[in-house]
Amino acid sequence: MTVNLLGLTQKELAEFFVELGEKPFRAKQVMKWIHQLGVSDFNDMTDVAKSLRDKLTQLAVVAVPKLLNEQLSSDDTRKWLLELTPGNAIETVFIPEDDRGTLCVSSQVGCALACTFCSTGRQGFNRNLTTAEIIGQIWWAYKALGKNPKGERVISNVVLMGMGEPLLNFDAVINTLSILLDDMAYGLSRRRVTLSTSGVIPALQRLQEQMPVALAVSLHAPNDALRDILVPINQKYPLKQLMQACQSYVKAGPRDFITFEYVMLKDVNDSDKQARELIQMVKDIPCKFNLIPFNPFPGSGYETSTSQRIKSFKDILVQHGFIVTVRKTRGDDIDAACGQLAGKVIDKSRRHEKFMEIEND
Ligand code: SAH
Ligand code: SF4
Repeated sequence: MTVNLLGLTQKELAEFFVELGEKPFRAKQVMKWIHQLGVSDFNDMTDVAKSLRDKLTQLAVVAVPKLLNEQLSSDDTRKWLLELTPGNAIETVFIPEDDRGTLCVSSQVGCALACTFCSTGRQGFNRNLTTAEIIGQIWWAYKALGKNPKGERVISNVVLMGMGEPLLNFDAVINTLSILLDDMAYGLSRRRVTLSTSGVIPALQRLQEQMPVALAVSLHAPNDALRDILVPINQKYPLKQLMQACQSYVKAGPRDFITFEYVMLKDVNDSDKQARELIQMVKDIPCKFNLIPFNPFPGSGYETSTSQRIKSFKDILVQHGFIVTVRKTRGDDIDAACGQLAGKVIDKSRRHEKFMEIEND
């Protein structure tokens, strides 16, 4: 069986070379070729000895997902559709801003957590991505975007905020982070890699111990009663525990704050009273807020808060000393905004059908 080197951490690659009777430092050389120079054919790795290249050609591959489509938005947001296996495709989005370029990657095909306002959650869950499939998204985007005139990589930040709940694909995500942070590969600092979670607490604690990167937590509600509905995993890991886990994470993480994401749903979670309740809830946690205007999708049953409402909600948080950003909707014309990433999910949980039944009632 051939091994796919794209998803191996430096440690795993070194072990593989030792098994082949080679020196472990070859791992560094080959990693640079794969991740920094975007080379997938061993014969093009010109400073690797011919004998090793021949061995690799027989025993290994650098298998990247197949690029099905690339779209460019009028606001310069880009989206790539990548095929994993026939029938399963995922989307990756690049969002350029003045001071940075952020790549948003997916960690699962679909998501099992069924947040009611999320299109991915509505589609159900198919499977976890492998490390190679998550890294494959970054590999394609780095190759497509390259460096700017100053010689810096156009992608300066990576966020695990695409399809899926990264903490429910823990091992593959940890290995992905290891490759992202590795100087022989993408060499990003921990502060420039953000993992977004809806709050899978035990896995969050393991992340804190093993590979703390910047953290975004999808809050969306100021109390358990509402969050139980919007983010059903809250029934298992309620807010009090989540707040404690966040407090602990800040101490270990690379940033001295947590980013709380809060999707603005008209007449559901956007009142002034709820803003005040939210402030009470997070009072012991160093945090910033990112308000996300809800991106509608057919049959969602939700509407986006008005811009006046968002402003009023924001102002209350700001008056209490919080830093608040309102996420600009980017890439709307190519369906690349938050919660719009679809790809093709063949739901294995059959939950989709249940949803359809409920919606049709
Ligand atoms: N599963 C992780 C990461 C992926 S979702 C999480 O939930 O954090 C990334 C972000 O997009 C989350 O904050 C999520 O709540 C938000 N989101 C999902 N659907 C959305 C929609 N329709 N409009 C706006 N934001 C949405
Ligand atoms: Fe999954 Fe995140 Fe969507 Fe919830 S918001 S269903 S956790 S992808």
